[in-house]
Amino acid sequence: MKNNIIYIFCALFMQNIIAQKPQTPTPSEIYFKIEKLNVLASAMYIAAHPDDENTRLITYLTHHDKAYTNYLSLTRGNGGQNLISNELGTDLGIIRTNELWNARNIDGGKQFFSTADDFGFSKHPKEAFEKWDKHLLLKQMVYMIRKEQPDVIVNRFDHRTEETTHGHHTASAQLSKLTFTLANDKNYKDLSQENTEMWQPKRLFFNVSWFFFGSKQAFDKADKSKYIPLNIGVFYNQLGKNNQEIASLSRSQHQSQGFGDISSRGEEIDYVELVDGDAIKGSNLFEGVDTSWNRIKGGNNIQPLVTQLINEYDFKDPSKSTNLLTKIYVEIDKLPETIWKTRKQNEVKELIKNCAGLFLDITTNEPYTTPNENVDVKVEVANRSNQNIVIKDVIINNQKIIVGKSLADQDVYYDYFQTKFTNQDYTNFKFIDNFNDFKNQFNLTKKNEIGIQVNDVYLSYTLPIQYHYKDVVKGEIYKPFHVVPAISVRFNQSTYITNNNQNQKIEVTTDNYSKENIKGFLSIINSKNEEVYQKEITLNESEKNNTITINKNFLNGTYQAHFKQNTNTYNNEIKWVDYSHIPLNYYLKDSETKVVSFNKSVLKKSKIGYIVGAGDEIPQVLKDVGYNVDFINLETVKAEDLSKYETIIVGIRAFNTESSLKTKNKLLFDYVKNGGTVIVQYQTNVPLKTEEIAPYKIKIGRTRITDENAVVNFINPNETVLNKPFKITQENFKNWVQEQGLYYADDFAGEFQPVFTSHDFDEKETNGALLIAKHGKGHYIYTGLSFFRQLPSGNTGALELFINLIELKNE
Ligand SMILES: [Zn+2]
Repeated sequence: MKNNIIYIFCALFMQNIIAQKPQTPTPSEIYFKIEKLNVLASAMYIAAHPDDENTRLITYLTHHDKAYTNYLSLTRGNGGQNLISNELGTDLGIIRTNELWNARNIDGGKQFFSTADDFGFSKHPKEAFEKWDKHLLLKQMVYMIRKEQPDVIVNRFDHRTEETTHGHHTASAQLSKLTFTLANDKNYKDLSQENTEMWQPKRLFFNVSWFFFGSKQAFDKADKSKYIPLNIGVFYNQLGKNNQEIASLSRSQHQSQGFGDISSRGEEIDYVELVDGDAIKGSNLFEGVDTSWNRIKGGNNIQPLVTQLINEYDFKDPSKSTNLLTKIYVEIDKLPETIWKTRKQNEVKELIKNCAGLFLDITTNEPYTTPNENVDVKVEVANRSNQNIVIKDVIINNQKIIVGKSLADQDVYYDYFQTKFTNQDYTNFKFIDNFNDFKNQFNLTKKNEIGIQVNDVYLSYTLPIQYHYKDVVKGEIYKPFHVVPAISVRFNQSTYITNNNQNQKIEVTTDNYSKENIKGFLSIINSKNEEVYQKEITLNESEKNNTITINKNFLNGTYQAHFKQNTNTYNNEIKWVDYSHIPLNYYLKDSETKVVSFNKSVLKKSKIGYIVGAGDEIPQVLKDVGYNVDFINLETVKAEDLSKYETIIVGIRAFNTESSLKTKNKLLFDYVKNGGTVIVQYQTNVPLKTEEIAPYKIKIGRTRITDENAVVNFINPNETVLNKPFKITQENFKNWVQEQGLYYADDFAGEFQPVFTSHDFDEKETNGALLIAKHGKGHYIYTGLSFFRQLPSGNTGALELFINLIELKNE
């Protein structure tokens, strides 16, 4: 539980201060924020995945309407695809979470998540509700609405369009529609243990988009009389940018989804449709809501002060506003506790910092530490105003130190404090997986603070400790500072394929993150919790990548690696998620591997050529099985280079990513004609680099079988591919993960023979999952089956079928 709190602490911090130098806004940016201080409006945007949100509308809400705006993405997007690396699952969820935090940092929204897992594509909301706990999600959403009190809620998706989009999408809108009523329902029991106040948002909208009409052209022609048009083409002259320019920067953060966007200017209309709540006459979503200070008790004392602040603001010297700001802070402090008191007090605190040119920073020159090591933390405060600032105290790692130092204009204070962390302070990334985690998103945990006094007003600023250093090429660098376990243990492979239970070489690698030598026992434990291997080893201080090779007869099953040092047991890998566009994260991954026994003597072929597309882990699996796998360089490859391979495999989405295939596809066709086998894994239908992905006509559709356990019906059970070398039966399609397949062929020439049919619940049979065409002396194969997920996860059923494809005998 404690770990969750720590995670939330990091999460909230990274949202607001993404490992970056303390920001110092310009006078006009400060003025823009001061205007926002005068608006008490709030909105909530709801969708299912990172990247679902319409950043144009969020930017419009935060900038034009100056509304406090939350985006609730139900999931982390871990079930999606990844365009920047072959990491899927947890790693992808972490990447996408950080991309969302980046996006909100640009468009000014606040980011929240629920416990809903992104288990992969679903066709119908009912599939989503089979896997999601609907009551738990409603409880979270009602809690969030009561806590955040949004005036308006905007759904990205339509609650009425089942089956026209991802089931998660429609489910998010349906949940939102229910929540809109439940938030103000006294009879709603699920939150009776929580001290929440009823809240009725004024309106619920659906953010209409052209994609529900099939195309932009169709949407242009559609009757929009029931929609409310919003001209989002607003120019914010104090920021020097218009709405779409900010929105496209925000959208472009979704690098893993390939959502890089160019900016646009000029008039642009976005539409919303009223789904529930009060009727609306004009184009102001907050119509009829009092968004002035009058909406809160005692607010009429604040209103004139804020008006004065706006009127007297001096663009040449923002520090002149500091006195009035501290007065406003004190007046807000007298108000009864409300969400607006908290929000506005935080805004004023930031404005005081900005106007007084205050520089506040807590850093260390260590990238990470382990429990019980001393860490030197530097605190820096600079005053760049004629305001007398007193540094009262600092809190480092929950320890308060009294400072009592007065800072005149241009005075800089810095000091070093030594602290130690414990294993409760690990900064590992965690997904939210229960209601308490969800709630913690709303409570900022304060561990490090700088307390200052301005005009007798005490203000404390919460800051993260950041790793700060100079890079002679890149300049000043800020990164998140991490607390990690002393030892990381990992198997070099997630799956090992042994030949018929013979001896298998397994490698375990340890990293020592501490500054001392650690002596202990490395052991391998099977699924019955029996120790099958143990060795005493010493891990030298700070030594990374220390690999131990174990050669032993490992039976089928899962194994864990443990490193025990006295009473400490380390059984996790410290898995870093390191990309240049997001802050550095790590998570703790079980040190686990799977051993799969397999009869390698059936393999007749040996040389495989692989054409890499978007990236998948099939080549490693094939090497483990015993094939020699070469990567084919499409730029330089010639016909004679291909002839040495017995089978050539085209990686996932290669026809989407590799321009060379526009011309080099012919080499593949000729290679098959001359007696080779080509296996093309799933490709998406748009945009292909060439429509000619096979020697015969084939059209890839959007058909997916999302049920990973869908039953298959073999069309001709006696055909070679289902019998040699392995007999393929229904059993081979059991224990698949996430989905059976995607982007099946919808239409194909008669030369292609479908191998089986299958279908999702309630749908008609489809036969485009696995197609084999005889071409000349060889075989050309297209398959949408998700081998790229099944093979790395150690699924032998899928592996046997894949080997049968590879081993197809040609003339
Ligand atoms: Zn989505």
